[in-house]
Amino acid sequence: MQRVGIPQGLFYHYYYPLWKTFFEDLGAEVVNSGPTNREIVEKGIAAAVDESCFPVKVYFGHVQQLCTMGLDYIFLPRLVSVEPRSYICPKFMGVPDMIKATLSDLPAVIDMLVDLSKTNKVFDREVVKVGNYFTRDRMAIQRAYHHGIAEQKNCNQICQSGYSTTEAIALWEGGQIDLPSRYDLQIGVLGHGYSLYDQTISMNLIQRLRSMGCKVILPEGCDHIKIETAAATMPKRVFWTLGRKNVGAALHLAQQEQIDGIIYLACFGCGPDSMIGDLIERKIKNKPFMMITIDEHTGEAGMITRLEAFCDMLRRRRYAGSESNLSAHGEYVYSPAGVNEWSAAGIHNSSADQ
Ligand code: SF4
Repeated sequence: MQRVGIPQGLFYHYYYPLWKTFFEDLGAEVVNSGPTNREIVEKGIAAAVDESCFPVKVYFGHVQQLCTMGLDYIFLPRLVSVEPRSYICPKFMGVPDMIKATLSDLPAVIDMLVDLSKTNKVFDREVVKVGNYFTRDRMAIQRAYHHGIAEQKNCNQICQSGYSTTEAIALWEGGQIDLPSRYDLQIGVLGHGYSLYDQTISMNLIQRLRSMGCKVILPEGCDHIKIETAAATMPKRVFWTLGRKNVGAALHLAQQEQIDGIIYLACFGCGPDSMIGDLIERKIKNKPFMMITIDEHTGEAGMITRLEAFCDMLRRRRYAGSESNLSAHGEYVYSPAGVNEWSAAGIHNSSADQ
C-alpha cells in the first residue's frame, strides 16, 4: 500500500477529512505529521525564510517531520482560491515552491492547483491528475472525491456545535471530546484556523479561555450566511476568503447580545492580518475587543496574563453594571469633553491590552 503524507498545518485544518477520504478510497494509506510540538516549530524556523509568517514556518517543520516517516508521496497542494471571486493569501500559493526549493530529502511531491476563482474546470482536471497517481479509473476518482466532500461536510457540521476544526477532526476520526457545560462569559474568538486551532501556535488559547469559565464562539460555529451577510456590509468586498470570514464573524458576533467580548488572534508577519485585525478593531464599537499578536517568540505567561485581565474586565462589566467602563488609560480619561461626548464620538472601551 502506498503511503501519502499530509502535513498537519495550513490547509489541514480546513480540508483534511476531504483529502484523507479521497486518498484512502483510492487505496492509499494516509499519514499525517501529528500535532505541532516544539521540535516541529524549531525545525520549521530553521528551514523557512525569516520573512515567512509563523504558520508557514510551522508548516515547514511538519513537512520535515513527514520526511522521516517513510512515505511514497507527500501532498502539497497549491491553494490559490477555494471559492469564486476570492483568494487565499499569496504565501499559501507559494508554499509548495518554497518547500521544494528549500528541502532536499522530500518524497515524491503530489502538487495540485486549487483555483476555483473563475471556473471549476481546471480543478476537476487537477483532481483526476492526483487520482491518477493511484488508479486510471476516472469513475473511482470521481467517487472518491465526492465521498471526500461528503465527509468534509460531516466534519464541518461538527464545528457547528462549538468545536474547533482540530477537535472536529478528532471527533470525526472517532475520538471523544466534551465541551465544558459551565461558563459565565461568552467570547467570540477569531483568527486563521491554522493558527487559532493549533494548540502550540495559539498557546492553547481556546482551552485556556474555556478553563477560565468562558464559552468560546468560533467562526466555524457561526452560520455561514450570517457571516457573509455581515461581511457584505463592508464598503468594499474583502477578497481574502479567511479575512472575509473573520470580518463577517466579528460583525455578526458584535450584534449578539450574549457575547461579552471578542478576541482576534493575529500572526506577526501576516500581511492580511495587519489589515483585517485593524479593520475589525475599528469596526467593533460596542464590545470589548482584544487583539493578540503571536510569533515564535511569544511568551506563554504574557498570554495568560492578558487573557485573565480580559476575563476579569468582562466580569466587572457584567456584574458591576453601574461602572462607566471608561478606559483607565489614554487621553479620553482626561478629556474635557466628558463621558457623554466621549461616548457620542463612538470611542469604545477595547483596552484590556492597553
Ligand atoms: S494569511 Fe497570514 S498567517 Fe496565513 S499564510 Fe498568509 S501570511 Fe501566513
